Amino acid sequence: MRTAICPGSFDPITLGHLNIIRRAAQLFDKVVVCIMVNSTKTSPMFSIEERADMVRRTVGKYPNVTVDTSDGLLAEYARQFEGAVVVKGLRAASDFEYEFQMDLINKNINPQLETIFLTASGKYTFLSSSVVREMAKYGADLSGLVPDEIKSDVEIKAKQWRRNNG
Ligand code: ADP
Repeated sequence: MRTAICPGSFDPITLGHLNIIRRAAQLFDKVVVCIMVNSTKTSPMFSIEERADMVRRTVGKYPNVTVDTSDGLLAEYARQFEGAVVVKGLRAASDFEYEFQMDLINKNINPQLETIFLTASGKYTFLSSSVVREMAKYGADLSGLVPDEIKSDVEIKAKQWRRNNG
């Protein structure tokens, strides 16, 4: 049984993330979406529990996809799944440089761990969680950016942000 791990911050999950998860679910027996606490991203919009809940609601329709959270290192986390492969999306050359470095670091800790990359779908190459957070803060329409299942969560959170910062 082949497991793919799709790691990320998912703050919040976007249609770009979902595209990669869906494609991984077609290629692998099982997909674990792992929401990682990323210490370099300091002020998240959503708590890790909120992010996990939104991802769960979004991927509920895929029977071979599960959701987990981790505050550790991906290379250590992956050890619990025999022969697991990390699957990531690549949007641009800038993603490549970062991901290349991450893969080298991960291999240092866990030499068995392979990372494979799926190229982003053309219509989502511009899309990131930070774009969504920025658009939401200015009250822009989020259709076509985030899954319908979580649109109102992001709108409500952005309204709270505007109230506290406006
Ligand atoms: P973000 O860059 O949006 O904050 P994450 O840290 O949650 O995203 O990224 C998790 C994974 O999802 C990474 O491998 C990233 O390259 C991939 N990813 C993010 N957005 C997209 C997208 N629009 N298309 C394809 N892959 C994406």
